[in-house]
Amino acid sequence: MPYPFSFDLTKISRAFFQEVARISYDKRIHKRVGDAARYLIEKFRIRELTGLDLSDAIRLMEDFIDVQIMNMRVKTSFLKVKRRALFLPHCSRKFMDSRCKATFNPEIPTYRCSHCSQDCPIHQATLLGEKYGYDVYVIPGGSCLKEILEKKRYEAVVGVACGMEIRLAANLLNKLKLPGRAVPLIKNGCANTRFDMEALERILRR
Ligand code: SF4
Repeated sequence: MPYPFSFDLTKISRAFFQEVARISYDKRIHKRVGDAARYLIEKFRIRELTGLDLSDAIRLMEDFIDVQIMNMRVKTSFLKVKRRALFLPHCSRKFMDSRCKATFNPEIPTYRCSHCSQDCPIHQATLLGEKYGYDVYVIPGGSCLKEILEKKRYEAVVGVACGMEIRLAANLLNKLKLPGRAVPLIKNGCANTRFDMEALERILRR
C-alpha cells in the first residue's frame, strides 16, 4: 500500500541519515517520536524540500525513525543467522519498459536483474546483496514477499520499500517470527523510486 502523497528526498543532506540514526539510538525517543519528527522537519527543511504539508511530513519522518528503531531492535537476532534474503522494489529499476533486460519468473515471483546498466539502483543493490551472501529478489509488490517466504525458508530478511509497505511487511515477519531490517525509500512513486545505497550496504554487512 503506497503513501497517499509523493515525496523526493534524493537531494537531502547526508547528515539527515546520520541524524535519524543518532536520534533513534536515544532510548527516550520511543516515547516522543512525534517531537523528533518535527525536529527533523525543521532542521532539514523537509517541507520546503518536498512540498509536503505538515501532517504528511510528520508521518514520513515518523516512519523513518520507526524503521531505524526496528532495525536496531532486531540487530542481535539478525546477526545470529546465516540464511538471509534481500527484497528490492521493481520500481527502482532504471527502466520500467523493454529497455530493462531483467527476466521475470512468475513461479517465484521475482525479476532477475541482467545487469544491463551500471547506474541502475537494482543492478548495484543486487551486486551488494550477493556480495554479502543474500538471495536477492526484485519484487513487483508486497504480496510477493509472503509468497516467497512461504516457498523458501529464510532465517532473516532485509527489504527496501516505502514506510507503509515496511509496516505491512513487519507484521508478516512478526507472524513468521523472522527478524527483518529495512531501508525506506527516499523517493516514492510508481517508477524511478530511490533508496540510499550506503544505508543499504550498512544494513547488509552487519
Ligand atoms: S540493470 Fe537490471 S534491473 Fe536495471 S534496467 Fe538493467 S536489467 Fe533492469
